[in-house]
Amino acid sequence: MDPNDIKQNAGMEALLTCFRRRSHVLFFRIKDLDGIVPKLKPTLSLSSQATLNALRNRLSEYRLLSDLVARKIVVYIENEIRFGVQRIGNDWHIPLNFFADNSIIETAVIGENPSDVMLLLKFAECYIEREKIHGFFPNARAICGGGSVIAASLSSYLRTESSPCLSVTDSDKLHPKFKQSIVTKRCIEIVNKAANKVAEHISLEEREIENLIPHDLIKRIENANVFINQINSIVVEDPGHWKYIDLKQGLALDWVARQDSETKKYWKKAEAELNRRKKGCCLCKNGEAKEKLCECTKILGMGDNVLANAIDILSNNPLKLNLKLMQTDLRWEKIAKAIFDFTIAPKGEKVR
Ligand SMILES: [Zn+2]
Repeated sequence: MDPNDIKQNAGMEALLTCFRRRSHVLFFRIKDLDGIVPKLKPTLSLSSQATLNALRNRLSEYRLLSDLVARKIVVYIENEIRFGVQRIGNDWHIPLNFFADNSIIETAVIGENPSDVMLLLKFAECYIEREKIHGFFPNARAICGGGSVIAASLSSYLRTESSPCLSVTDSDKLHPKFKQSIVTKRCIEIVNKAANKVAEHISLEEREIENLIPHDLIKRIENANVFINQINSIVVEDPGHWKYIDLKQGLALDWVARQDSETKKYWKKAEAELNRRKKGCCLCKNGEAKEKLCECTKILGMGDNVLANAIDILSNNPLKLNLKLMQTDLRWEKIAKAIFDFTIAPKGEKVR
């Protein structure tokens, strides 16, 4: 590192500012902190010098955290001017000079709507609690696309911003073999084509983000038990159905009848059970009625507020209780880990 190199100085200054503003965590190797950085110190601002000292004092704490963060930006020093961002495995390798010319703020988490992003950040909080990490939190900007507009939002973000970004789509799948959605395909293409960006797209296997919420948490939502008991009576042999069930609308015999053969095959046990109920129902004239079918052929969903209710519960409960509710079904953990990697930031001291 060259203390007389203006770009390197500006890059280091920018990185330390980013940490100080609690946008991202910085990890240093001890040999860099003790070797190269002191040479640079006199040319840095006083606040950046203080930040370096603070980092030096908390080195062991940061080393533990560093082992948990799977996706990182690795900053390297180049004397020649290079600007390229390279993805190598889980990491992005970026020359220090890059930070002199590109302003980096908090990660953007791009989702279909604000509630989706909020739930993802709640998952990350649970992950942080589970790993017993203190003094850090998932710091992110929520950018929302609204269904199919998410690809356009992602594209526009990558065109105009340099800060890291993680976009997430649900699958809209009605069963495991259902085709990938066009929106997801488009988002993956956009991220793959984006040059010089720290970006990733994650496509959930679940039909909607609500399907990631564990049973034990859903059960806390008012009136959820009726739905859960009914669904369980139909799909108890395959808990995988929980990924594809429509939590809001529920499941109806005439819905199954309208689907393609693969979808019908997947929901055939539910179809058989609903047909059995219809045959035993006198309102449906023991199954012979052709007109609009009655409640016996439906499992009523929980309505449109499932996600909002789940977020309310997670926001009002202590983290420890949330984690207890979340522990029974860990499908959320993979996406929580990705959000954690992208958004982990120091809480910092309270401003007085
Ligand atoms: Zn009936």
